[in-house]
Amino acid sequence: MHRILEDARLSAYEAELGRERVKRAAEEAIGRARLSGNGREYDAIVDAVRTRLEALRGGALSPVINATGIILHTNLGRAPLSDDAAAAISDLAGRYSNLEYDLETGERGSRYAAIAQALSAVTGAEDALVVNNCAAAVLLVIDTLAKGREVIVARNQLVEIGGGFRVPDVLERSGAKLVEVGTTNRVYVDDFERALSPRTALLLRTHTSNYRIEGFTHEPSARELAALGRRAGVPVVEDLGSGALCDLAEYGAAGERTVQAAIGDGINLVTFSGDKLLGGPQAGIVAGGAHLIARLRNNPLLRALRIGKLTIAALGATLRCYRDRPSRERLPIYRMLAATLDDLRERAKAYVNALPDASASESDAYVGGGALPQARIASIAIALRCENPERLAAKLRSGDPAIVARIESGRVLLDLRTVAPEQDGAAIARLAQIATAPAD
Ligand SMILES: *Cc1c(COP(=O)(O)O)cnc(C)c1O
Repeated sequence: MHRILEDARLSAYEAELGRERVKRAAEEAIGRARLSGNGREYDAIVDAVRTRLEALRGGALSPVINATGIILHTNLGRAPLSDDAAAAISDLAGRYSNLEYDLETGERGSRYAAIAQALSAVTGAEDALVVNNCAAAVLLVIDTLAKGREVIVARNQLVEIGGGFRVPDVLERSGAKLVEVGTTNRVYVDDFERALSPRTALLLRTHTSNYRIEGFTHEPSARELAALGRRAGVPVVEDLGSGALCDLAEYGAAGERTVQAAIGDGINLVTFSGDKLLGGPQAGIVAGGAHLIARLRNNPLLRALRIGKLTIAALGATLRCYRDRPSRERLPIYRMLAATLDDLRERAKAYVNALPDASASESDAYVGGGALPQARIASIAIALRCENPERLAAKLRSGDPAIVARIESGRVLLDLRTVAPEQDGAAIARLAQIATAPAD
């Protein structure tokens, strides 16, 4: 401990954060190192202390290299932004803007007007609204349309998305009464029809994004539900979640329903996230019929869920990338999806040539983020031979840049699909540094 506190590599942190803070970080790192059985690796501990202090200094978040192969990794911040979105943020960040100001009339304007137009143009919906995340979008919809009334949901769609987002709980918190219909495996549109009553506020469809029931199953189609809703005069809402704006079949990963398809099926309101397959900032989008969106806009709750100017800037720039496929691949997630196995093999050579313990290995990448849970995307990983995979993975996490790898069948794998090509140099340098560091 004494040696760590006197280490010159940490003195700058001590001046900035205080000795107590450095000491606490050192204690944590020593404790973790003892637990993982590598208590003798001094440099690794100093690295870990530095990573921790660097995070504290930078306001707690630091960039990492995602080598997990999961493209939309919720714990790693989901979609990385495009250069266009990052530039739009930095352009606006230090200045005033026309956030709620109409430059033509010189009067107060709407924060949502421009982004709503861009969303309508891309999705084909009449109108749209943006809040902080998709959970907030669902909350706003239920609160506006169904408070104190009934929402009909198919029993096989009463899902928990993860992070505590459970459809029945959201309904309850919004003051709506859940009416479950059908059975766990089979639900028909007639089940919905029989449950209709004067108290029915809406029919809800959710994307069962993270699990699948297989075998003897049935589900009403979106079109059937939309037709029933029209006949009964009840809006039909679909929580899509991942919100793809293009058909992923182009990238060899079929099966994800697009927002345009839901709108085309006659769904009245569609909710989806900004930072999943849309490839933009954290946001929750509601797209659909103009009269329903107008009701959402008048809900005082919107004030508590509203997005900031930097989100609008990033989302606007992201949507401009949806003109055609080449501009869409300005979005990092679509570049990752578009990379061919040959591209990845070519990049793998640089790792294998530089690192004696590395070999290229076939791998499975995933879209993640609740989307396409079972769709594997063929990929290439760097497999690292080592005695203790857990320990190597921990070392990779403790460095700068931190690298988050995957452990599979006793090997540490770095899936290249989620590593940006421009990060290869830094990743190889870090791996070489670990390989040549004196072993304990
Ligand atoms: C991911 C997801 C959500 C939650 O989205 P957030 O933007 O994280 O709030 C809600 N519903 C579905 C179907 C999802 O996949």
